[in-house]
Amino acid sequence: LTNPTSVPWDRLWTNCHIATMASADRSYGLIEDAAVASHAGRIAWVGKRAQLPRTSSKLAAEQIDLRAAWLTPGLIDAHTHLAFAGERSAEFEQRLRGVSYQDILRTGGGILSTVRSVRAASESELTVQTVRRAARLAALGVTTVEIKSGYGMNLEHERKQLRAARAVGEQLSLRVSKTFLGAHAIPPEFSARRADFLDRVTEEILPALASEGLVDAVDAFCEAVAFSSSEVAKLFDAAQALGLRVKLHADQLSDTAGAELAARYHALSADHLEYTGQYGVDCLARAKTVAMLLPAAFYFLRESQPPPVEALRAAGVRIAIASDCNPGTAPVLSPGSVMNMACVQFRLTPCEALAGYTREASHALGLADEIGTIEVGKSADFAIWHCAGPHELSYWIDGSAPIGRVFRGEPDPSGAGIA
Ligand SMILES: [Zn+2]
Repeated sequence: LTNPTSVPWDRLWTNCHIATMASADRSYGLIEDAAVASHAGRIAWVGKRAQLPRTSSKLAAEQIDLRAAWLTPGLIDAHTHLAFAGERSAEFEQRLRGVSYQDILRTGGGILSTVRSVRAASESELTVQTVRRAARLAALGVTTVEIKSGYGMNLEHERKQLRAARAVGEQLSLRVSKTFLGAHAIPPEFSARRADFLDRVTEEILPALASEGLVDAVDAFCEAVAFSSSEVAKLFDAAQALGLRVKLHADQLSDTAGAELAARYHALSADHLEYTGQYGVDCLARAKTVAMLLPAAFYFLRESQPPPVEALRAAGVRIAIASDCNPGTAPVLSPGSVMNMACVQFRLTPCEALAGYTREASHALGLADEIGTIEVGKSADFAIWHCAGPHELSYWIDGSAPIGRVFRGEPDPSGAGIA
């Protein structure tokens, strides 16, 4: 578009207030009494309605009066384990009856029960369940979702999870970022052969899935109960050899120097970070790695040490937040609930929480040129809200539902997916 105002736009939304989330001071980037136009799926114009170009001809093929509603960038859930089968609510009941997590593990519960459920599900069954959860996210204003594998733990079943993730983007108006979580836990058949499992992942599974176009990024779980720094480094070396970016579940339950490890590999994001110290924060700042905070897991596990938000702010580290939706530690789909938890538990401001679900999340996916703010040239992905202002989106404990959603310039068809 050399001169977007000289051609008719596809759509023009008027009579709205916009939180563009695009401003140098990291504020909401508010434009009151605004208008925004899309052409060929991209934002062609945004500004005050009074400054719309005056022409004798119509500006857009379709004009939509939003009756003073608020418009934000489409939300981005940049850390989910959505492609799972089954659920673990019986285990939740057991834990609250006093059964220890160790006993639950011994009797086949915990993450390995999800591994069994995922392996037992056909690709179409897994896809149906994953699409159903993603449709709920879309109904709540999400336009981009990251989906991790990690419950299959062999080539056949990791592939099935990533194909289910890809199907979400084919069946719903959602952009999907697919992450191979290659080192999540040791599968039972390798319990006595850790090194063999990592060889299998790096030499066979990752290269095969990458060659099928199923891997946008590679992830690992660095923790005393999961994988060590040197084991993760082996996976990250393999990822980088294939030209893939990495991200890391880091310092969630203890300080394993996960943030430093993520920074060493210029990770897109380091996720959780409850136990990250000042040195780790400084490493993230230098590497421009996004701090991805996951307040729902913190809530569900009743953790007591919040991530070092003040140090992250002071160091200028971008702070994103996400649902971490998974059956073991974060059974949640509502972005508004997660934003509220981030404010209440981690003391983020509502502005930081919304930025964490939009602009900063786009950086965590390496998609900042495409999504995350309302600026000319980016994808026309919006969520439309009846609210007092964008701060209200973090206020309700059970979240807010938008009144409309736009994906690549297209309003959600017939309101499908709108709660
Ligand atoms: Zn996770």
